[in-house]
Amino acid sequence: MDGAVGADGVEAVRVRFLGRKGLLADEFRRMGELGPDERRARGAALNELKVFCEKRLADARDRLAAGVRSAAGVDVTLPGRRAPAGVAHPVMTTLRDICEVFRLAGFDIASGPEVETDRYNFEALNIPPDHPARDMHDTFYLADSNPKSKIQNPKFLLRTHTSPVQIRVMEKQKPPVRVIAPGRVYRRDDDVSHTPMFHQVEGLWVDAGVTLSDLKGLLEYFAKSIFGEGVRLRFRPSFFPFTEPSLEVDVSCVICGGGMHSRSCRTCKSTGWLEILGAGMVHPNVFRSVRYDSRRVTGLAFGMGVERITMLRYAIDDIRLFYENDIRFLQALSL
Ligand SMILES: [Zn+2]
Repeated sequence: MDGAVGADGVEAVRVRFLGRKGLLADEFRRMGELGPDERRARGAALNELKVFCEKRLADARDRLAAGVRSAAGVDVTLPGRRAPAGVAHPVMTTLRDICEVFRLAGFDIASGPEVETDRYNFEALNIPPDHPARDMHDTFYLADSNPKSKIQNPKFLLRTHTSPVQIRVMEKQKPPVRVIAPGRVYRRDDDVSHTPMFHQVEGLWVDAGVTLSDLKGLLEYFAKSIFGEGVRLRFRPSFFPFTEPSLEVDVSCVICGGGMHSRSCRTCKSTGWLEILGAGMVHPNVFRSVRYDSRRVTGLAFGMGVERITMLRYAIDDIRLFYENDIRFLQALSL
């Protein structure tokens, strides 16, 4: 019986000896040929043999089960558990796609710290002291190391945009510069279209003779790569402290196709247009702060919110869904 291999082997032995047509059953049947005394003695002996065989079979089964379980500290007879295949978060997928679009246009990727100083986040970007972004209601300042301080003059803050990377790159590098800076940014905002942390991609191209038409062409190439060839762009004049002139860039609504046939599109509020980014030509004051000569070089810059673009791509109406870790939401988007 010990020579039996595996559970199938043990079962084969059981059938051969204890089965209904097995050897013991044969012996029991032959008892009919015997006289009463002999039959009683034979019956007792066969029953003893049957009990013995059952015990040995049970032992064999136990040994088998114990051996299997101890093989690797796990029961390898259990059905296998499928390892769930992870997928990239939709925001990361979009971020990667945006980076790839600009990489193909010759842009390098730059990065900078998420904890910034006032100089890089505001001052060098021509953001004046009375600008609302500098208010404590809009920006996360880091507490002074002095516990008595009421953060009267905070040195550090969580960057509110990726634009400080422009300054860091230009400080280290002479023109030409052609970089994008993807990364996390932080603002004191929390509603259906704002989260305290979100992602931006900043772009900067500085060289002799870079013009507004380069900016428009570049952004058109970008929008068509991300939203499809059929998308149209609209440029509106705007204001940012670090660009002059400044523009807001809209794409034709990806949900209703531009509002021409829809009177009730919630995504674009039936205007037919969706704002996707801010852009402009680098302000001479920004060049001055990094000692670039604005008479010799010009630059274009743009910045976009990655969550915003992801929402438009996947028709999501609440930004907070990205960060609730609801596996159903993430699975639905990964299809
Ligand atoms: Zn629409």
